[in-house]
Amino acid sequence: MKEIILLKMGEIVLKGLNRKNFEDTLLRNLRRRLAKIGSFTVKASQSTITVSPNSDDEDMDEAALCVSRIFGVATFSRACQAKKDIDDIKKQAKEYLADVFDRASSFKVESKRSDKSFPMKSPEISRELGGYLLSQYPEMTVDVHDPDVVVTVEIRDFGAYIRAGFEKGAGGIPVGTGGRACVLISGGIDSPVASFMMAKRGIELTAVHFASPPYTSLRAEEKVAELLRRVSLYSGRIKMITVPFTRLQEEIRDKCKEEYSTIIMRRFMMMISERIARDNGCQALITGESLGQVASQTLGAMVCTDEACSMPVFRPLIGMDKDEIVAISRKIDTFEVSVQPFEDCCTVFTPKHPKTKPVLSDVIAEQNRIDYEPLIEEALQNLKVTNI
Ligand code: ATP
Ligand code: MG
Repeated sequence: MKEIILLKMGEIVLKGLNRKNFEDTLLRNLRRRLAKIGSFTVKASQSTITVSPNSDDEDMDEAALCVSRIFGVATFSRACQAKKDIDDIKKQAKEYLADVFDRASSFKVESKRSDKSFPMKSPEISRELGGYLLSQYPEMTVDVHDPDVVVTVEIRDFGAYIRAGFEKGAGGIPVGTGGRACVLISGGIDSPVASFMMAKRGIELTAVHFASPPYTSLRAEEKVAELLRRVSLYSGRIKMITVPFTRLQEEIRDKCKEEYSTIIMRRFMMMISERIARDNGCQALITGESLGQVASQTLGAMVCTDEACSMPVFRPLIGMDKDEIVAISRKIDTFEVSVQPFEDCCTVFTPKHPKTKPVLSDVIAEQNRIDYEPLIEEALQNLKVTNI
């Protein structure tokens, strides 16, 4: 018996002339990611993609998990492949459904015949297979309204496929169809979720992390790399760029009024990130900010931060509550890493009373106490690149 995985494309089937580009990108992403697991053939036809193992040794559980994280897939299911012959379909279905039927008491059969050269029509296929399965599993009943299991038979160009139900895929659109953006990543809960959400909309990610050794440790950087590794199971490869930020933070501490320090620090982060973004072909910045979550995330503070750069800044979490963000971080398996207690450069020199309604001209006046251009230049000369 040969098992395969059937994928249904999501929104991308709607994209008119772009459809071919979307489909090709999805196939490329599937092939690249599945190649890490084993040897599979990935083919598309009529808005369905089939993933077939090239030998009996391939790990289909791993393959299904991998596929479940790839954006652009609406639903997927494991299925058994039969010859386009009703007797073989019956034989394979009986064997393949044994486990599922063991845990169910009712079923119905639905058929789809995209290969019109197949001699039986869909209702006939359903009737014939349904009757046969009932004869082989007499403890089961047929329930067309609310069955425990919906058995689907699809007669397609490369064969007949039998499956029991389907699972929801990762949704979204394929990574790489939406351009490239640069995410500012900390070790917290929010920025990995923001990364995930933008990747879901087709964006390829480059990540920038600000480190302030010795105030922040190497372990904190490793934690960020681990978070990105988990995000990359969805987004595909990520280039992580670590920026040495200590000198600028010390200057802020020594020269600027304390209540402005966070906002000035964030402006420097934007300036540096924008330059890194340009050098890496990114068209926008992404942060994990959510309106009102902390003092630096008030509307007024964000206006002051954005003024420091000219690229658009995407904040996919802007209207979300913390518990909604946490729910996603648990789902994508970053939460338990995010909550490990390591210092972030943001938390090292936190002011006691940050300005929540900063006035831009005051912020800029404070910022200009520092001769920051050479320090930004120096930081940019000392970037560390890690490929995730
Ligand atoms: P997170 O959970 O993502 O750390 P947060 O709620 O702790 O977010 P802040 O620490 O104020 O919020 O940071 C807001 C955003 O600024 C983060 O979501 C991230 O995009 C960016 N950021 C914060 N610290 C860093 C850092 N060390 N390097 C890069 N970006 C950072
Ligand atoms: Mg943080």
